[in-house]
Amino acid sequence: MMKTPDLHTHSTASDGTLTPRDLITRAAAQGVEVIALTDHDTLAGLDEAAAAAQAQGIQLVPGVEISVTWGGRTVHIVGLDVDPASVELRQGLRGLLAYREERAAEIGRRLARAGWPGALDGARALAEGELVGRTHFARFLVQQGAAKDLRAVFKHFLVKGKPGHVAGCWTTLEEAVGWITAAGGQAVIAHPARYGLTRSKMKHLIEAFRACGGRGIEVVSGSHSRDDYFTFARWSREQGLLASAGSDYHGPDNPWIELGRLPGLPEGCRPIWEQPGFAGLDRDWSGSSPQAPMLNQSVA
Ligand code: AMP
Ligand code: MN
Ligand code: MN
Ligand code: MN
Repeated sequence: MMKTPDLHTHSTASDGTLTPRDLITRAAAQGVEVIALTDHDTLAGLDEAAAAAQAQGIQLVPGVEISVTWGGRTVHIVGLDVDPASVELRQGLRGLLAYREERAAEIGRRLARAGWPGALDGARALAEGELVGRTHFARFLVQQGAAKDLRAVFKHFLVKGKPGHVAGCWTTLEEAVGWITAAGGQAVIAHPARYGLTRSKMKHLIEAFRACGGRGIEVVSGSHSRDDYFTFARWSREQGLLASAGSDYHGPDNPWIELGRLPGLPEGCRPIWEQPGFAGLDRDWSGSSPQAPMLNQSVA
């Protein structure tokens, strides 16, 4: 029996709270056998994660979660099994990190105008890696008593129409998928249920994604409901996309999401991790069944 791999997680290299090493150690303790580290717009955690994975005897899939602007919205594209040495990928991410710096400064200025001075320095102090994201601002504002938890801070300060909101201006879908593909990886649409797209917009996104070489879609995700699993299992089948699974783990302070607890994919999905050559996984998957199989529901 094989546990469902966890192909979407974060460390302190982006906005997670565990170091890459501690993330891998916790994953191993939770019985995870295959894990992808997919920090936002950076590969900086991968070396440490790889060393820890080797020490713990679990398999690390090198990954990244790239911020994209598509149709006026922010969409996240996960790259799996990427070569961290890829010049094209590294150059692309460098541009995104530079944009993150500009955006962080602008968020800081807007929050200062709204009565929260020092937010940029505060967020920077909480960021252990090379990037400052909204999560770091949110943690700072919670510490300052601006709102009771991360969710509330996002809702009142950091989303559209709120004082600290800055409309994202990330890379294009084509570029993100291109960098991932150039790095030998597989591009996957992250947590598709989160974008609030109509069916027709979702179809456009998937078609544009496939047209530039995208391969997969997250069916099972920490931010999906059980209904979403079946909805996106159907999309994956109908649109010929491989299915992925990932917790989107950011650390133990979110008690709702734990490593090693992903259910199996609904029937009828083609798991991305069973594709020949994926991340050098030379397992024989025949006869393996997921650790927590979906009931007898099929997506047909
Ligand atoms: P950024 O890429 O800097 O704009 O930050 C996006 C990150 O913020 C996501 O990856 C989540 O970790 C976090 N996030 C977004 N919305 C929320 C929310 N409503 N509550 C808590 N965290 C959130
Ligand atoms: Mn995040
Ligand atoms: Mn995301
Ligand atoms: Mn994520």
